Amino acid sequence: MDVKQLHTPCYVIDRDRLEENLRVLRGVMDHTGCQILLAQKAFSCYAVYPLISQYLCGATASGLFEARLCHEEMPGRENHVFSPAFREEDMPEILSICDHIVFNSIRQLELFGVRAKEAGLQVGLRINPQISTQPAEHAIYDPCAPGSRLGVTLDEFRKAPANLVALLDGLHFHTLCEQNSDDLETTLNGFEEQFREWLPQMKWVNFGGGHHITRADYDIPRLERCIRRMQEQYGLEVYLEPGEAVARNPGYIGRLPHARCD
Ligand SMILES: *Cc1c(COP(=O)(O)O)cnc(C)c1O
Repeated sequence: MDVKQLHTPCYVIDRDRLEENLRVLRGVMDHTGCQILLAQKAFSCYAVYPLISQYLCGATASGLFEARLCHEEMPGRENHVFSPAFREEDMPEILSICDHIVFNSIRQLELFGVRAKEAGLQVGLRINPQISTQPAEHAIYDPCAPGSRLGVTLDEFRKAPANLVALLDGLHFHTLCEQNSDDLETTLNGFEEQFREWLPQMKWVNFGGGHHITRADYDIPRLERCIRRMQEQYGLEVYLEPGEAVARNPGYIGRLPHARCD
C-alpha cells in the first residue's frame, strides 16, 4: 500500500505496530497468568478486533453500546462492563451479553446486583482507594481527587449491608492515566492495606487501565510482581484493562507517516 495515494482525511493503522503492542501485553499474560482486556473507550476500531482477540482475553465496555460491539466483534471472548450508573432500560441486554459487571456504588449494587448474579454474571464493585498518584494538573480527571464520585471508599464499603458485600466476586480500581508501574504499586499497596480483610473472599481484582505497558521505559517486572502478589497472597485472578497501551503508536492521521498520533 502506498500511503501517499490515500485520500485525506483518513486514519491508517499499521497492523505490525499494533501487533508489537499486543505481543508485549500477551507476554505479561503468559508470564503471570493474568487476564488483559481491551478498554474499548480508548480504541474501538472493530476492524482489528479479530487480531486483538488472538492476543487478549476480551474487552471491557463503558456502557451498552461498547458491550454490544465486543459481543458482536469478539465473539466468545470475555465481555466486561463498568458504568458510573446503569439504566434500567439497558439492563436486559447488558445481562444477556456480558459476563462481568462492575458497579460504581453500593446503591447500584443494591439495585441490580441480585439480578446480575441470577443472570449468571460475575459481579464487581469499583473501589476508590483515595490514593492520588497523578500530577496536580490532572485533578479534573483524577478518580482519587477530593469530591470524586468514582468508586466506593473504605468508609462507604464498611457501611454496606453484608448481604450486598456477599454478592461480590471481585473488586475493581481505576486510578491511573498514562502511568508507570511504580504508581500502580503505590496504589495497590494502599488498596491492599484498606481492603485486605475482604480479599480472600473475592475471586478477582481488576487493576483498571492507565498502565502505559507498551512504552519503552515501562517497568514490566514491577507490574508482574504486583500481579503475582495478589495471586499468591490472596488466590485472586488479576485483570488489567488498558486502552491506550493497546493502541499506542500504530496510527497515522491523514497521509503523512510523520504525523504519528502518539
Ligand atoms: C478509561 C478507562 C480504562 C482505560 O484507560 P487507558 O488510560 O486508556 O488505559 C480502563 N478502565 C476504565 C474504568 C476506564 O474508565
